[in-house]
Amino acid sequence: MIKPVGDYIDYGVLSSSLRKNMVETQLRPRGINDELVIDAFLNVPRECFVTEEYADNAYDDTPLPIIDNQTISQPYMVAVMTELLELTAEDISKGVKILEIGTGTGYQSAILANMGCNVISIERIETVADFAKENLKKLQYGDRVKIYVDDGTLGCPDEAPFDGIIVTAAAPTVPSALIHQLKVGRKLVIPCGNIMVQQLLQVVKEPHNIKINRHTACRFVPLIGKDGFPE
Ligand code: SAH
Repeated sequence: MIKPVGDYIDYGVLSSSLRKNMVETQLRPRGINDELVIDAFLNVPRECFVTEEYADNAYDDTPLPIIDNQTISQPYMVAVMTELLELTAEDISKGVKILEIGTGTGYQSAILANMGCNVISIERIETVADFAKENLKKLQYGDRVKIYVDDGTLGCPDEAPFDGIIVTAAAPTVPSALIHQLKVGRKLVIPCGNIMVQQLLQVVKEPHNIKINRHTACRFVPLIGKDGFPE
């Protein structure tokens, strides 16, 4: 059993060896090789983002249920999506602002924050947003991650433009507001398809058009909103 100590101040040797094992068995063999992403996975204690009953499963190669029928994605999926943003160390050192739609547990936000990104994350369910805020505060990522409770299909015009956008819920189509709010040359990563199965897309915003690169099949909970699935 992974026991959080105090307010997660000491994650312990067990947690860090589980993280190494996750990287070596789940991420590297499947082609994740961006060392910025790998480092973040080695650093962020995933057990702090699952509910207590799933603490023992925090490093399993699978998505897990959280609260309000939502899920924390499989570690590999979080890694692929992060890698597809194609952020460089130079970008990050200059300061980048990433928009995430679907805060969930806050784990994806924490990975980005650990890499040095500033994160704006939108969650439609207030109790879920509160859960994420607590998790991020305990790990002291609170300053780098701003969470809004809203319909993320419309993006976040007040904070735009963004250096990358990650949608962590299944969308029927790519919401046009998100493309508008992305900087030219940057990437939007989004699972697109029907409720049952989607394909992970990397949408690249070019000066006069958009290019879509297709990746793995996946299954996310639905993106519900004005430019998503109906409630
Ligand atoms: N990124 C999360 C996992 C997200 S699960 C993590 O790291 O744990 C998908 C989340 O998207 C759910 O919490 C769901 O409530 C949220 N969601 C669904 N539709 C949304 C919308 N239109 N705007 C914002 N969040 C939405």
